[in-house]
Amino acid sequence: MKKLILVLGDQLDFNSVALRNFDPSTDEVMMIESRHESTYVWSHKAKIALFLSAMRHFAQTLESQNIPVTYIKDSDANIVDVLKQHILDNQVTHLECVEPGEYRLKISLEHLARDLDIELIMHHDDHFYCSVSEFKAWVADKKELRLEYFYRYMRKKHQVLMDEDSQPLGGQWNFDDQNRKPYSKNGPGLIQDPVVFEPDAMTREVFEFVEKSYPQHPGSLAHFAWPVTREQALVALDFFVTHRLAQFGTYQDAMWKETPFGWHSMLSPSLNLKLINPREVIERALAAYQTDALDLSTVEGFIRQIIGWREFVRGIYYLDMPQMAEANFYQHQRSLPSWYWTGDSKMNCMKDAIGQTLKYGYAHHIQRLMVTGNFALLAEVLPQQVSDWYLAVYVDAIEWVELPNVVGMALFANGGRFTSKPYVASGAYVKRMSNYCNGCQYKPEVRYGDQACPMTTLYWNFLMKHQAAFNQNPRTRLMTANLSKISIEDQTHIQIHADKILNNLDAI
Ligand SMILES: Cc1cc2nc3c(=O)[nH]c(=O)nc-3n(C[C@H](O)[C@H](O)[C@H](O)COP(=O)(O)OP(=O)(O)OC[C@H]3O[C@@H](n4cnc5c(N)ncnc54)[C@H](O)[C@@H]3O)c2cc1C
Ligand code: SF4
Repeated sequence: MKKLILVLGDQLDFNSVALRNFDPSTDEVMMIESRHESTYVWSHKAKIALFLSAMRHFAQTLESQNIPVTYIKDSDANIVDVLKQHILDNQVTHLECVEPGEYRLKISLEHLARDLDIELIMHHDDHFYCSVSEFKAWVADKKELRLEYFYRYMRKKHQVLMDEDSQPLGGQWNFDDQNRKPYSKNGPGLIQDPVVFEPDAMTREVFEFVEKSYPQHPGSLAHFAWPVTREQALVALDFFVTHRLAQFGTYQDAMWKETPFGWHSMLSPSLNLKLINPREVIERALAAYQTDALDLSTVEGFIRQIIGWREFVRGIYYLDMPQMAEANFYQHQRSLPSWYWTGDSKMNCMKDAIGQTLKYGYAHHIQRLMVTGNFALLAEVLPQQVSDWYLAVYVDAIEWVELPNVVGMALFANGGRFTSKPYVASGAYVKRMSNYCNGCQYKPEVRYGDQACPMTTLYWNFLMKHQAAFNQNPRTRLMTANLSKISIEDQTHIQIHADKILNNLDAI
């Protein structure tokens, strides 16, 4: 028996179930850098660099532990073809791996094993609290899929923030209403900068390779400071919990010019590459709650994202693939404005959110949801183009987490499968939650005409188009009630102006 253990770029977990029973006399690890993975969407340079550098560091550590690794660099072939050749050349009889974070790869590996008639052992990924099968069982008797109920189930099952009577600490399950404050009118004040990791020789070599191989790809490497090893990821976790968690909850939704990270954790790349485990993140946050007397609302707000949203969207991904990738509830067909790739828009909010995305490969949740996502929905962009953009430009983007967030949360493209309403907002929301509108050539309160905020015009236009459906939903009825306060004449002007914007999205 010759066993090959495939470790993918987002499976850099030394405690991986696929590595637990490693036998150096028969087993071998294989890791593959395939150009296809960097180019099937037009990936940000920092995303490519993060994956390659973290993979190379991981392989180096395995080798230092006398684990034999076949590491293929810069292959023109796709992962499955490289694997196939290696299996044939080396008479491999067993292929072992953890289930991939992309449906297409999972299916391709299953086909490969069948075609070659070798045994495939695909482990469920116990990095996550909730397995795919457990999620399916949880869903079985649910009339509708809502985060809140899944989150309660997870809190109870794993006894997180629960009291002795199995009731939620503080007497309520979530403190979302305390997690939505804007910064003060004078700005966010002094925010503790996130920890920075200087690129080492291996990372610098990757930078050179990325610049040479993918010169036209979007984004920059000039500000790259992401953790590329488990040790660094642990430092980042410790730093966040010690210096930034205390303010995280309050300002979770706040935005401010040139404040790319706010009080956010920036832990998603390390979590998604599996450099750190969500259990250690939760444990650290809970310990800080006890020892540092942090406010329950901030700790709960953070924990909800990890044990709630992160696990929930992964469950939904495997439940709804492959049809989720094709979802287009509103039948939107427009092209993504070209400035999504450059930040070259006259809209201050888009310029800032996209500008920092190109600089760091990062934007925080509200920028992704209520700025770039909201606009793409209001601008009626084809969901698959939007999704490709998100998958390309964020360093933490892996399909299992990216797709449900884009299709389900930002675009309502799956018709509200797990959200109770489309997340649409006008420029008034952006004005309330940020200072982007100060100095913008558009005015958030103006609905049509040259000064009109495109977000505002397209918001009212969207409500007019979907008025009947919004009227029927108690969560959106108030929005259409406000629409009815706008005169018919103004509504006509809005529609005409909206058509002008929609027919020339590149110009705004
Ligand atoms: C349109 C859109 C696309 C997104 N694409 C991705 C993506 O490709 N990869 C990704 O990891 N997250 C994605 N998210 C979720 C969220 O925006 C990011 O996880 C978060 O911004 C990462 O920054 P952070 O680590 O500073 O997060 P924090 O705000 O500090 O949150 C802590 C952690 O909670 C988890 N988390 C928070 N919100 C979510 C969520 N909605 N879904 C899943 N996990 C969540 C992340 O692991 C994150 O690191 C997307 C959200 C939207 C609206
Ligand atoms: S006025 Fe409109 S376009 Fe300008 S920053 Fe505000 S929301 Fe964005």
